[in-house]
Parts: sequence; structure tokens; C-alpha cells
Amino acid sequence: MSTYNTRQRSTVEGFFRDHGDRGFTPEDTAAALSSVPRSTVYRLIAQLADEGMLRRTATDGRKAVYQYQEKGCSSHMHIRCLGCGRTMHLDEPTTRAIEEIVSSATGFDVLDTTVFEGVCRECRECGR
Ligand SMILES: [Zn+2]
Ligand SMILES: [Zn+2]
Repeated sequence: MSTYNTRQRSTVEGFFRDHGDRGFTPEDTAAALSSVPRSTVYRLIAQLADEGMLRRTATDGRKAVYQYQEKGCSSHMHIRCLGCGRTMHLDEPTTRAIEEIVSSATGFDVLDTTVFEGVCRECRECGR
């Protein structure tokens, strides 16, 4: 059990919280946080993901993408834009309605943590 510098941990945590509408690979995070050593950023991300503060939203090629997870995010689905990389929350009634539609059509029980991928309105309007 090792402990990391508290200031480094809160720097990494704060970075994800401040950019809570999108996800980052550990490489992107390390590049944005030049004050924290790269290997420490990687270990802190793994630790925060274990604790449930970050969740893996997708993979960018072979790299994992992590995003800040608000409390309660495990009980609704998310939509992720392939244009700008933002992830947005679906509210619980929408999540339940999707589950019902899929279940009655196929008998399939969809996970609450499902992330749909698509293109958001802003990106569609600017043609990304
Ligand atoms: Zn959410
Ligand atoms: Zn977008």
C-alpha cells in the first residue's frame, strides 16, 4: 500500500472534475499536467478508477479513456460524441425507457452503464 503526494492526487482529481464532460487517456492527462510525473499520473488514474471516481468510458484505439464520474452515474446510461469526445448523461426515465424497449424486443437486459456513441447536435450543425 503506497501513498501518493496529496497535492498530486488533488491535481489529477481536479483536472478530471474540471473537464467532467469529456474523457482523457492517461497520456493526454499526463501531457496536460506537467507538474505531476507521468508515472504518478498513470498510477493515480488507476487508483481513482478503482475507487469509482473515474470510469472507463471507451477506448481510443488501444488506449483506455477515463472520465470523471459523478455520484449516481452508475444508475443511468450515457451518450458519447465521436466528434468532440464529450460524454453526456441520459436521465433515469430515459435509461429505464431504453431498457424496457430493448428488453421487450429482445429479452436482453441492457446494463445501466451502457454508453451510446454518436454525434451531438453541435457537431452535426458544424458538420464534424
Ligand atoms: Zn452520468
Ligand atoms: Zn460533439
